[in-house]
Amino acid sequence: LLAPNEIFSPQRRNSRGFDLTDENTLLDIEAARNAAPICQSTSLVFGPKGGTPTEIKNPTTGETIGTILNTDSSMVSAAIETATPWDAPASARAAVLRKAADLFESAFGDFFAILALEAGKTLPDAVGELREAVDFLRYYADEAEAQNNTQPLGIVTAISPWNFPLAIFSGQVSAALAVGNAVLAKPAEQTPIVAAMAVDLLHQAGVPRSALQLVTGSGGTVGAALTSDPRIGGVVFTGSTDTALKIRSSMAQNLVAGAPLIAETGGLNAMIVDSTALPEQAARDIVASAFQSAGQRCSALRCLYIQEDIAPNLIKMIQGAMDELSLGDPWDLSTDVGPVIDADAQRQIAQYIDAADAKGQVLHRLSVPDAVTGTYIAPTLIKVENIAALEREVFGPVLHVATFKTDQINTVIGDINATGYGLTFGLHTRIDGRVQAISDRIHAGNIYVNRNQIGAVVGSQPFGGEGLSGTGPKAGGPRYLLRMCKNEAQTTSQ
Ligand code: GLU
Repeated sequence: LLAPNEIFSPQRRNSRGFDLTDENTLLDIEAARNAAPICQSTSLVFGPKGGTPTEIKNPTTGETIGTILNTDSSMVSAAIETATPWDAPASARAAVLRKAADLFESAFGDFFAILALEAGKTLPDAVGELREAVDFLRYYADEAEAQNNTQPLGIVTAISPWNFPLAIFSGQVSAALAVGNAVLAKPAEQTPIVAAMAVDLLHQAGVPRSALQLVTGSGGTVGAALTSDPRIGGVVFTGSTDTALKIRSSMAQNLVAGAPLIAETGGLNAMIVDSTALPEQAARDIVASAFQSAGQRCSALRCLYIQEDIAPNLIKMIQGAMDELSLGDPWDLSTDVGPVIDADAQRQIAQYIDAADAKGQVLHRLSVPDAVTGTYIAPTLIKVENIAALEREVFGPVLHVATFKTDQINTVIGDINATGYGLTFGLHTRIDGRVQAISDRIHAGNIYVNRNQIGAVVGSQPFGGEGLSGTGPKAGGPRYLLRMCKNEAQTTSQ
């Protein structure tokens, strides 16, 4: 599979390209990854000084890859106490963020290594992730300089997920910093080391230590403390809808009125393929949307609707394309699908698939090769009547498929909207009028036509949902920074 970020590379903001079809580039990447310190020693220690040591495991092998120091509650208070908004002209902050972008690019070997070891990222995914992180740094630097926003919120808590532990982490942090906030950055518990590396480079680039602190640990303790303290001026969060609701009530307990929560949460994302679609293109885009990154993207396709008359053929093509996917070590350059994030996730997804299997709903299920050990889930296709059968977001390589008759299109649109989520939506059709008619009625933040529905590009495809999928404003779009400022915090939505 080509990574969507490779397909759309010309739109990116001058971030370094990696041509994964070029033998020499691959050799350079391999050499740089192998030379990364994290590959030389498993006894490296990361994170804030003085915390509780916790071993971080490689999801593929279960082996310890390093140690993170987790912040205890007295350290959280000290972090809030010492956090100081970044008082410098917008152009000076922008220059530092651009310097950080350069340092990130130079550190590609270290980042690709840790993204594979800590998050199970395949090489195309790691490339896409580093480029997105760099894009965020440069984009928010440019926007902040152009907008010259004046009143930062003060101290912003940034809580980021394990599925984009570098890109989303860097996006949240750089947006908040670009307009002069102090940031307390809490990475996901599974992926703190890549965040520690990123913070280190941001400090090296010139972000003051008092303006950016890494606060590691669990959501229940550290996250709760960072979202309930009245000194926090705002919270930016990406993760599950349930956690976003908890954060909102945690904030409501103590916060000064008006402290904003920017939340980007889950989705039950659908795609409609009608009988005029190009089947080869649709099959390829469906497989990329559902199974790239082992389905661990909130943008991923979860429920595919195929018009009945082309369904048997298209399903056969999807199954054929699935059979071509190679599951294996993320380090192996031929791997398309890496592991899911941890044993808990693996167990839950496997139970879900087994339950569907027991009901006779599994249309196609790959198997994990015997030689591959670790937290893998083989891509699976499940037949459903409609999207209402999906009770929750299954965050892995599981695609549901339903069919519809021509006169049922309105019901399909109604059912998709009735989930209450609204993140991404895909449409494959060659009828122009239908594109507009359906896009107008579907409630989704990002709508993709005749392409895959993952890999939004910073600056050109601002990303974020509505309803249960998030609060807006969209990440990588011009309004995001406004919500990081006081004067706009209460008034701006999308
Ligand atoms: N922005 C990513 C994409 O478009 C998804 C982000 C996420 O999974 O949280 O694929």
